[in-house]
Amino acid sequence: MIEYVSSLMAEVKAKNPAEPEFHQAVQEVAESLRIVLEKHPEYRNARVFERMIEPERVLLFRVPWMDDQGRVQINRGFRIEMNSAIGPYKGGLRFHPSVNLGILKFLAFEQVFKNSLTTLPMGGGKGGSDFDPKGKSDNEVMRFCQSFMTELSRHIGPNTDVPAGDIGVGGREIGFLFGQYKRLRNEFTGVLTGKGLNWGGSLIRPEATGYGCVYFAAEMLGSRSQTLKGKTCLVSGSGNVAQYTIEKLLELGARPVTASDSAGYVYDEAGFDREKLRFVMDLKNLRRGRIKDYADKYKSAVYVPVDPKLDSNPLWSHKADCAFPSATQNEISVKDAANLLKGGVFVVGEGANMPTTLGGVEQFLDAKILYAPGKAANAGGVAVSGLEMAQNSMRYNWTREEVDKRLQLIMKSIHTAWVEAAARFRTPGNYVNGVTIAGFLMVAAAMLDQGLV
Ligand code: NAP
Repeated sequence: MIEYVSSLMAEVKAKNPAEPEFHQAVQEVAESLRIVLEKHPEYRNARVFERMIEPERVLLFRVPWMDDQGRVQINRGFRIEMNSAIGPYKGGLRFHPSVNLGILKFLAFEQVFKNSLTTLPMGGGKGGSDFDPKGKSDNEVMRFCQSFMTELSRHIGPNTDVPAGDIGVGGREIGFLFGQYKRLRNEFTGVLTGKGLNWGGSLIRPEATGYGCVYFAAEMLGSRSQTLKGKTCLVSGSGNVAQYTIEKLLELGARPVTASDSAGYVYDEAGFDREKLRFVMDLKNLRRGRIKDYADKYKSAVYVPVDPKLDSNPLWSHKADCAFPSATQNEISVKDAANLLKGGVFVVGEGANMPTTLGGVEQFLDAKILYAPGKAANAGGVAVSGLEMAQNSMRYNWTREEVDKRLQLIMKSIHTAWVEAAARFRTPGNYVNGVTIAGFLMVAAAMLDQGLV
């Protein structure tokens, strides 16, 4: 089996050159599935995993738009329709200058496993553009979104492919995208999730990824008869996921002390509170400012600029009990993982997708801490997206309490699925293996049922 994984990886690298994040994601999953593939030759014979790493469809398109100065701008648009074995493709859109094919393929691949873990009928996809909304006017963002959707609208639909938000795509962008889809297709449908509450959105969708990640951490702690109360927590990012992670941590009595953006981070010795969080939400969601302003406003905080070229980020060196990386992929290097363990962290909940490098993951597993990979920990967002789709189909809205209760149940059931899969394949304590195996088994069964497609 060791040879199976190494020859598979050699093929993946040769066939998908210059896509290191995709290679990393496939390798992590392949390692976890080794035991399953060994025990089940039927998956190997039907080449189920080999099919899973090949997208069903990849769309790449030109997105021309005009800036406020009347200059023509051109970006790239993408949609990766990865796997539709258990439902329509589902996954976010990311607008960030770093976006490329390899990053979106890794995200779409991970999404397949994550979506199946929610037990809702959703396949996996991901998309986006190398467009950077930062520093653009609302009108520029609108013109870009309209041009992007003009092409994307040919390929998506409520029963085909239902995108949502991700980095750089929040309520404003979803609004512009939805408006253009409706205009082009003359139909008001649940073609996107993360919509506004008065036009088809679901309560708790904005909160869902952060809340879900904290619920999952609470489940893990519960397995050791502990709670989040009084725990000091490091959070990275200051966008959607980070904000609602901090909110739920505060609600459960924890003490979040950091937040960041791509330029640096703030460490607030006194801890965040509701008023400080409101300031961050206003700063990031409305004024679209930088996290540095937080330290100017609150004297209990210090701002530390971060050089992304260095091999570590001092944010992860502070003493704490829990860490919630909620910014972007590979933000926890090998050195950062060592610093986290040295600083006393024994719970890691990945709000972001693949925020920990392979070497960092190894250290967490060796240390036997409570480490929840993104595929499980941040599945709350897509879970409530699934609930938004269900509400759209019924043309009915559930209450905040109803959606939150369902979200909690889903996070609990993902935890249970992990425990069961880990026990069945004898890797207790290893959340990485557990969640990957649980997700794989569901998708693989559907693929076998549906024949060679
Ligand atoms: P967001 O609202 O756009 O916020 C992203 C945050 O991360 C910002 O603070 C941003 O700082 C920071 N960031 C982005 N790229 C960075 C980089 N290269 N280096 C350092 N910091 C960086 O996005 P989000 O929705 O919170 O998503 C955050 C992560 O969660 C992503 O990995 C995403 O895939 C994952 N996720 C999101 C959802 C969801 O429902 N939104 C669901 C599942 C997983 P700047 O403002 O300086 O760029």
